[in-house]
Amino acid sequence: MNDVKNVVIVGSGPAGHTAAIYAARANLKPFMFEGYMLGGSAGGQLTTTTDVENYPGFPEGVEGPELMQLFRKQSERFGTEMVQEDVVEIDLNKSPFSIKSENREIKAHSVIISTGATAKRMGIPNEEKMWNNGMSACAVCDGALPMFRNQPLMVIGGGDTAVEEASYLTKFGSMVYMVHRRDALRASKIMQERAFKNPKLEIIWDSVLDDAIGEEYVTGAKITNIKTKETRELEVAGIFYAIGHTPNTGIFNGQLDLDNSGYIRIKPGTQETSIEGVFAAGDVHDHKYRQAITAAGTGCAAALEAERWLAEKGLVE
Ligand code: NDP
Repeated sequence: MNDVKNVVIVGSGPAGHTAAIYAARANLKPFMFEGYMLGGSAGGQLTTTTDVENYPGFPEGVEGPELMQLFRKQSERFGTEMVQEDVVEIDLNKSPFSIKSENREIKAHSVIISTGATAKRMGIPNEEKMWNNGMSACAVCDGALPMFRNQPLMVIGGGDTAVEEASYLTKFGSMVYMVHRRDALRASKIMQERAFKNPKLEIIWDSVLDDAIGEEYVTGAKITNIKTKETRELEVAGIFYAIGHTPNTGIFNGQLDLDNSGYIRIKPGTQETSIEGVFAAGDVHDHKYRQAITAAGTGCAAALEAERWLAEKGLVE
């Protein structure tokens, strides 16, 4: 069956490209749907961030989009076939699997899903203008930038991520406000204790962010207490959303086993999904670490597992 690919990779973030590099170097001739618009943009969340300073190998840091271009070049160098198209339909119920974009249908013996997740945004009026100019959805990625050093900062949310990111930001900022819409945190008890004990972290209860203030960069935030209706402005140099992520799994719904939040469930210690021959890598299954380097690591693991599985089944074309 010459028209069946050994492995199709869906998604082109660090997980997808690392899977492609490994699969290509194993002579599997991988085919990648890079995506176009569905996950925000081809290349994933790194393309919407600025300096990446925590990816090993770049001691001076690297721009997110540049890092993605380097990943892409490396996939290309080893012969990955890539198309910048969104997958609009996928059939994982029979083998070979079928993966369709608007322009083509590709059949595959195995599939690696690395469609990532999208950080939720609030859609406040100045959000687009201030994005990457003081607004971010990843404190771990952006918090250490010089613009945030010794400045008051703000985190929105009351879950584990909000506490983790707010705690992390207290290392750099002069103080951190955590603005939460209720009077109790969603975060686990241990994380709550960490938040309450941190002298540089102030929780602002029952409050919502109305807008970011600033011309070129964020200089403040307008918030309202939803119980008292009192509105006030706080001086801050950064506003970090930590209001959750949405995994990009819409097209797999009803076919793959997903958890309650829509993340792909994998078998512990593997990258295997509920369907044999279908593997997941990166943020599409990982809501815990969500780092470029952890996504890359699971992309590597998924490719190695796919290679082994294809060999075991005698399916390599
Ligand atoms: P969560 O969904 O747990 O929390 C999101 C928070 O944002 C909630 O407090 C929610 O408020 C608030 N929120 C959501 N939408 C809005 C909005 N439109 N406006 C204002 N506030 C909003 O997401 P997390 O990213 O924190 O966590 C995801 C998962 O990952 C969880 O299972 C968590 O336990 C896990 N995790 C574990 C970590 C660890 O173990 N170290 C670290 C990070 C995450 P409300 O509470 O009112 O709903």
